[in-house]
Amino acid sequence: MYHFIVNPVSRSGKGLILWQKKIEPILKKKNIPYRVEYTKQRGDTTELCRKISASAKNEDNCIIVALGGDGTVNDAVQGIEDFENTTFSFIPTGSGNDFAKDMKISKNVKKTLKKILSAKKYAEALKKFKDQPATTEDGTLFKIYANIGTPEEAAVALEHGADGIGLFRTEFLFMNALQEFKRETGAFSNSLSEEAQFEAYKKVLQIMGDKPVTIRTLDAGGDKLIDSGDMPLFEEKNPLMGLRAIRLSLYYSPQIFRAQLRALYRASVYGNLRILLPLITDVSQVETALGIARGVQLSLKEDNIPFNPDVPIGIMIETAAAAVCSDCLAPHSKFFSLGTNDLTQYTLCVDRENTTVAPLYNEFNLAVLRLIKTTITNAEEHNVPVSVCGEMAGNKESVIILAGMGIRNLSMAPKKIPVIKEMLSRFSISELKNLSNRSLF
Ligand code: PEP
Ligand code: MG
Repeated sequence: MYHFIVNPVSRSGKGLILWQKKIEPILKKKNIPYRVEYTKQRGDTTELCRKISASAKNEDNCIIVALGGDGTVNDAVQGIEDFENTTFSFIPTGSGNDFAKDMKISKNVKKTLKKILSAKKYAEALKKFKDQPATTEDGTLFKIYANIGTPEEAAVALEHGADGIGLFRTEFLFMNALQEFKRETGAFSNSLSEEAQFEAYKKVLQIMGDKPVTIRTLDAGGDKLIDSGDMPLFEEKNPLMGLRAIRLSLYYSPQIFRAQLRALYRASVYGNLRILLPLITDVSQVETALGIARGVQLSLKEDNIPFNPDVPIGIMIETAAAAVCSDCLAPHSKFFSLGTNDLTQYTLCVDRENTTVAPLYNEFNLAVLRLIKTTITNAEEHNVPVSVCGEMAGNKESVIILAGMGIRNLSMAPKKIPVIKEMLSRFSISELKNLSNRSLF
């Protein structure tokens, strides 16, 4: 959806004229859906952008186009919270800045409109891919799954043509529920209850029917802090190297881990569940987690609660340790899921949230690619299915490399699904292999 922000009270007054005379008539004529908001005073732009970009996650394509001077750009950019899901474009209109020469204005308007029209054509072309299986030009089949953070997003995943859920990040469930609890009562709560989790997991499984649903156990800590009564915030000098994910579950709060596994097993009778363990660095962690899972199964049996004892338990490969030793981890894992975000962060020693070192964060770095390749080779040798669920899975350039290396399962933000299906359809598998091979030297 295109969101236009027009400032009718600008000094030059050009924004409104441009909007009314040139832009809106074309959008109407070409049947391009849009929303327009008019600012009333300075500062409105920031607030409007904040409002629009907050809803961006739920939109296929959130594009904000602001009409105004360079002050407007500054105001607008400050309001954009969700840069990942929002595209920002700007049509300069003011008279007291670099952009203001009339010729340039009209050129920019033309350029922006051209972009909008071709984006519309592309969006229409993508629609047909939503309901088609993902295949290369020569018929190699791929499975394209969705990453979600709430049960409600499962429906969005289906709408975008997902073959299943490749990653349900359950930490958001915890964070949202606890925040709500705190807002309503002003008090801390203990962790999200087994019952509340059961309902959430059951909901996702029911929405997805017989399609696979991979639910990851709590990946809290690091940059995703959960401030609850039984999981206080820790003072850690290097939280990303600290008590996060499976470490928190095994070494600090096994009671929370057990409650989560109980909820998962109870929900398992409602669909096609798979359980995923985050931030594994060695075999003993997997063995301990599997031991706890067996204990949970016994307790459910004693309580006469039905569950599926064969739910596959797999692991995230998102540390160099796991990738290098993926041959040792394979016999203990029913599947691998490559978390390329953390794999990149930890391999290159670059905090993925730290903007000062952002240029060093490079998923195409040879070290990262070699670790991915090692994992795929080991997975193939041990007959362990492998997928990718980090950002690389939803990026066209990196999918070329991953597919060429042998990846056939990808999990990504729902709205990326048709984009990746369309891209794969334009290549043969040998083209993908050739392109990929070049990146490994
Ligand atoms: C990853 O690390 O690539 C991943 C998918 O996990 P998260 O982004 O939730 O850390
Ligand atoms: Mg991760």
